[in-house]
Amino acid sequence: MADRDGFIWYDGKLVPWRDATTHVLTHSLHYGLAVFEGVRAYKTDKGTAIFRLAEHTQRLLNSGKIYMMDIPYTKEVLMEAQKEVVRANKLESCYLRPIAFYGSEKMGISTRGSTVHVAIAAWPWGAYLGEEGLEKGIRIKTSSFARQHVNVTMPRAKLASTYANSILANLEATQDGYDEALLLDTQGFVAEGAGENLFVIKDGVIYEPEIASALTGITRDTVIRLAAELGYTVQSRRLTRDDIYIADEAFFTGTAAEVTPIRELDNRTIGAGRRGPITAKIQARFFDVVGGKAAEYEPWLSYI
Ligand code: PMP
Repeated sequence: MADRDGFIWYDGKLVPWRDATTHVLTHSLHYGLAVFEGVRAYKTDKGTAIFRLAEHTQRLLNSGKIYMMDIPYTKEVLMEAQKEVVRANKLESCYLRPIAFYGSEKMGISTRGSTVHVAIAAWPWGAYLGEEGLEKGIRIKTSSFARQHVNVTMPRAKLASTYANSILANLEATQDGYDEALLLDTQGFVAEGAGENLFVIKDGVIYEPEIASALTGITRDTVIRLAAELGYTVQSRRLTRDDIYIADEAFFTGTAAEVTPIRELDNRTIGAGRRGPITAKIQARFFDVVGGKAAEYEPWLSYI
């Protein structure tokens, strides 16, 4: 990823991609406190638009607040910076990765005396769980690792070190030949995927697990609104893994994963074992909305 042409926004200015480096004694590298976002921009008929830029930028600032990290830029500056990165790299559609991290002034757990740096990179990134996954659905496995308890790392923050838990789960599942992991919370109820929120559908009703120990996904929020618009009821409740085994349909949501159908959990086929009809409708509507083909959702698009 480091050896590329292009520009990265780094502490207020665009720098050549290869020069966007940091010292090995960077505090965040040692102790894991960095907060970040995953954002996507899509090509539309009116040009490239970043999807729900304000919400992603607010979540980044919220993540900083939760971890008492003073991100030294306003929401407006960070939003403009993200547009600038897409423009500077001449990207039509891409993934954006803003990250705020502590610098290399000192070692020791306390962050006092460390400077907060912010970088924003953008690059083309296709379907996170594969094009085939978007169409045919993926196979997932319940992880032996629990999602971190709400008082271990706080789930409203998108915190770098939380992803050590995601990595354990993802490696375990993918090494066994599955596409992604499903994590349960410490009480054994369904939490989320390693980098995705989950929805299941039973008898025409859409359910999501109570969001306690999962990230409050922005794609999740988008899907809840689109499902309501399409006439479906969405209910939040405690879900067990076997609720998913006997569901008619299931899918993951995420900025990277978009709307990815799930066709199998723990070697049990879900429904007909392919993208279900309600999932297909929601997915199609999602791609219309992000692609600028739904006028009523224009406020969610920030043209670069
Ligand atoms: N949960 C986790 C752990 C994630 O990493 C992500 C991706 N950011 C999500 C859920 C989905 O969130 P969003 O739709 O905002 O990308």
